[in-house]
Amino acid sequence: MRVTRQVMPNPRRDDLPTGGEGGPDAKRPGRVGIRTCVACRQEAGKGTLVRVVRDPSGRAAIDPGGHARGRGAYLHRDPSCIEIARKKKALERALKAVVSPEVWVQLGV
Ligand SMILES: [Zn+2]
Repeated sequence: MRVTRQVMPNPRRDDLPTGGEGGPDAKRPGRVGIRTCVACRQEAGKGTLVRVVRDPSGRAAIDPGGHARGRGAYLHRDPSCIEIARKKKALERALKAVVSPEVWVQLGV
């Protein structure tokens, strides 16, 4: 009785899936810190935008540090964008929150 051992061919290691797009760092390259102004819809870095956040009671508040929890909207620190946002109620719509007059005062209108 003979046992014949077949030599298995080397497992092919060269057919790993290739052609995946992007690779390991394919998540939103170059968009870190980019936000959209709710008034003019242009993208800008966080530094030029002011963040408005909806607090738990459903009211909008300025978030000077930009790190408050909750839904946030961004607006240029620009009187024209602030004016657009106020007229079009862009912040109200973005945040689904009440924007009190004192928020606009804080924004400098
Ligand atoms: Zn703007």
